Amino acid sequence: MSRNFAETEIKFLKGVGEVRAKLFASELGVCTFRDLLDYFPFRYVDRSKFYHIRELQGDMPMLQIKGHFLNFSTEGEGKTKRYRGAFTDGSFMMDVVWFSGIKRISEMYRPMKEYVLFGKPTQYKGYWQMAHPEIDEYNPERPPAGFQGVYSLTEGTRKRGFGQRTIQTAVANLLSLPAFASMGETLPREVIERYKFPSLSEAYSELHRPTDPTKLQRARERMKFEELFYLELQILRYSKRRSYQLTGHVFGRIGEYFNRYYTECIPFELTGAQKRVLKEIRADMRTGRQMNRLLQGDVGSGKTMVAFMSMLMSADNGFQSCLMAPTEILAGQHYETIREWGEKIGLKVALLTGSTRAKARREIHAGLLSGEIHIIVGTHALLEEKVEFKNLGLAVIDEQHRFGVAQRAKMWGKGKIPPHVLVMTATPIPRTLAMTVYGDLEVSVIDELPPGRKPIETWLRSDANRGEVNRHIWRQLQEGRQIYIVYPLIHENEKLNLKSLEEGLERTRETFRDVEISFVHGKMKPAEKDFQMQKFVEGKSRIMVATTVIEVGVNVPNATVMVIENAERFGLSQLHQLRGRVGRGADRSWCILMSKEKLAATTKQRLGIMTETSDGFLISEADMKLRGPGDMEGTQQSGIAFDLKIANLAKDGQIVQAARTAAEDVLAGNPQIAGVAEPMDRSTALRLENASLQILATELKRRFEKKVDWSLIS
Ligand code: ADP
Ligand code: MG
Repeated sequence: MSRNFAETEIKFLKGVGEVRAKLFASELGVCTFRDLLDYFPFRYVDRSKFYHIRELQGDMPMLQIKGHFLNFSTEGEGKTKRYRGAFTDGSFMMDVVWFSGIKRISEMYRPMKEYVLFGKPTQYKGYWQMAHPEIDEYNPERPPAGFQGVYSLTEGTRKRGFGQRTIQTAVANLLSLPAFASMGETLPREVIERYKFPSLSEAYSELHRPTDPTKLQRARERMKFEELFYLELQILRYSKRRSYQLTGHVFGRIGEYFNRYYTECIPFELTGAQKRVLKEIRADMRTGRQMNRLLQGDVGSGKTMVAFMSMLMSADNGFQSCLMAPTEILAGQHYETIREWGEKIGLKVALLTGSTRAKARREIHAGLLSGEIHIIVGTHALLEEKVEFKNLGLAVIDEQHRFGVAQRAKMWGKGKIPPHVLVMTATPIPRTLAMTVYGDLEVSVIDELPPGRKPIETWLRSDANRGEVNRHIWRQLQEGRQIYIVYPLIHENEKLNLKSLEEGLERTRETFRDVEISFVHGKMKPAEKDFQMQKFVEGKSRIMVATTVIEVGVNVPNATVMVIENAERFGLSQLHQLRGRVGRGADRSWCILMSKEKLAATTKQRLGIMTETSDGFLISEADMKLRGPGDMEGTQQSGIAFDLKIANLAKDGQIVQAARTAAEDVLAGNPQIAGVAEPMDRSTALRLENASLQILATELKRRFEKKVDWSLIS
């Protein structure tokens, strides 16, 4: 694409100008010609025909009607004030109404002139009407338009009379520029030919002003492919370079530690899934390549034991291991568990966090350097430069989505040969997404819970049922149990957020007088937060009122009720995580989703899934389909900005596959893209001509230079 053309500021486009350019930028994020071209319609309307009022029925999409106004009137006062035009197509009548911009509108249209209305017809008291339609003077010379794109707009644009028409006209003007037709390619010629894609300008043109459904489909496929192709290429080039450069420790043997623990000490029989995953990990760690494995397992599926037994393999080969957790509390809990397990076979386990005192810290530093400490559990504190190991063989990272990729990468700096890396997450990620989000991480799944777990009962309730919910909480408190009450982050505004949380706290205090309550939110000082959490962990407080900070891994087996306020505001995966905080002990447990009385159908459907299944994978897949992967936890927090414009990782699985394959083929044929010298052996390898390599370089730079440092993705 000619740099100059695509990067031209939108204000230079005919009919835009300074004022609108500012709106384009501030409201829609559209600053350049390219931005506008990439601002795809979210749907299309048929403007190929005129409807008659008598044809209107049921729920119809936006459509156009030709006719004239008979008269206008202003009705109502203040907030209910509206402007009404009686409109006829010659035989039947309907109303056109405006609720805002009345002054401007009243000067704009005249009776008896022929207009074309375009809008969504609705019924009001048995009478057809259209609110705020688009209106054009009828021009018999001009045939009806064909399919037309509908763009998403904001309140801010609408208020200023910047409507669909504005953006459609701007796009039309852009598409008719001679420079547009000769716009350069953004995909290599070889790739376009292999997949028989339309050219870039054809695709853009079809996407904005479709001429034919099949062509539109192909245009859309090309754009999705292109977006995914560069994403995959970027991920692959770094992972190829890494695997080319990096070797790993060879853990050839299973020895004393592992065998003794397994035969004499293990407190339970491993589940089949745990055994399988351990085999996968073992196979990885003996190849001589650095292991990069993602361990997915639902909350409570027993990931910690898998991590521990992997550490035993490391110890058997004379290496140290570390386990990094995102919070002090969680690190503390892991430490307790692993120390208890490790002590039985003579392993030295230590804990290092931000609050470890200077003296203890020095001892730990020394112990790690001498090799006296076999396993270190900790928080980010483990990443400090002063923390040096004698020989770190395995790094386990828990609840990965709280760590940035950069932090993972730091871990490998801890030795000449990087340690094997095991990333554990309870956020189940569908495979197509995992493949992309985690580059070449291998994925292991624990898809089985230890036996004897009682399912958690999930209720969906609203304010009208608060009495019932409170009675239930009282009963559980009387039985000695503990309760979580969680609030979402509602407002962008932190003050407002805290306010709704504090109101919740106030209400809880009033309802449950004399019950000790912990109160935790994300903006608290860490020390205060830990204090409040600890109080709850030790059972000194009985109710925990919190924002989602508790989501990550606290283990309080005595907690049996999880109340989630404004549940409709949470993603399903998040609800699932929260629900996993209860049901950890022997007692029956409940998850109560509190929501508004009236819910949109899709929201009801979403929350309904929670009451029907406890399978984290089903939930995550449903969540991704309903909300799109951009919203999924784990993709945003992992630091990988997926601002996909048109592709959808959840729905475009096939295109993801094709893009992945194409990226692999291109890399195999042109290894220099990954900074690797040797060509890779691959029968489908695609060698590119120089002009195409130039396109790749330009596009990779443009798309990724300001984003994440991808070289850090493990
Ligand atoms: P998560 O995968 O959520 O980190 P944990 O590792 O904390 O789960 O395990 C949850 C609980 O289940 C712990 O108390 C753990 O000791 C127990 N557990 C793990 N594996 C088994 C098993 N195979 N049989 C019985 N209990 C198990
Ligand atoms: Mg865990």
